[in-house]
Amino acid sequence: MDFSILANIMNQEIDQNKFNNQDKLISILKEKGSELFNKPFEKIDFTKNPEIDEVLNNIERYPHLYVLACVMDRQIKAERAWSIPYEVSKEIGSFEFTSLFKLKEQKIKEIFVSRNLHRFNKDMSKYFYLTIQRIHNNYANNASNIWKGKPSSATIVKRFLEFDGAGVKIATMAANILARDFKIPMRDYFSIDISPDVHITRVFTRLRFITNSSNIEMLIYTARELNPEWPGIFDLPCWQIGRNWCNPKDPICKDCYLTNFCPKFMNFNI
Ligand code: SF4
Repeated sequence: MDFSILANIMNQEIDQNKFNNQDKLISILKEKGSELFNKPFEKIDFTKNPEIDEVLNNIERYPHLYVLACVMDRQIKAERAWSIPYEVSKEIGSFEFTSLFKLKEQKIKEIFVSRNLHRFNKDMSKYFYLTIQRIHNNYANNASNIWKGKPSSATIVKRFLEFDGAGVKIATMAANILARDFKIPMRDYFSIDISPDVHITRVFTRLRFITNSSNIEMLIYTARELNPEWPGIFDLPCWQIGRNWCNPKDPICKDCYLTNFCPKFMNFNI
């Protein structure tokens, strides 16, 4: 028996299994993403505070609060960032856009500083003010004009990018929540990329879709390669896996629904 031939055959089988497992992982995640996309609207738990979430979920009446919250979602815990438009509105006694529009930049800054709303009160109060101005100037005081009329995903992402302080991460997150959770109709989903979030990156690495030296661009292009019609489909399933089971240390693989196919590449630096 030639053992080198046997070893070759075994290696080929291992490679084939790896491929099969990867295909299976991709199809499970896509299925989960589609399931989340197709289920009826459910109230989104933005802040874990029912009173604040009630207002943020009322996107028909207060679309500007959604846009403002997205712009605030930087370098602080999401729950705190998403509470900011509510806190400012409470301070002035109204959630209406016309009331927010009356606020001078200095007044917004004072509210931010006195209530310590953000880690970067000076910059973020300015972005808050500029977001209100842009909604007034470009969207006729109605932020839902950003997504009205079934625009393409590229148009929605681009419109969010046009807000001062909103980068690619915020813009794609904003478009993804609109599509997946608020069920806003869009012409396509091509431009909704995966969010380079820490949980998502860790899960993508442990599934060996990317390596632990991959950068954000690699993550984004891998998701595009795996599902060009909607790269962001992986966002919520991977985020949930990362948050619930795939901990940085001691992942709870036995409870994770990917456990039968996951290569379980454990690198505790990710
Ligand atoms: S099986 Fe384990 S390592 Fe793999 S994704 Fe799930 S929790 Fe993470």
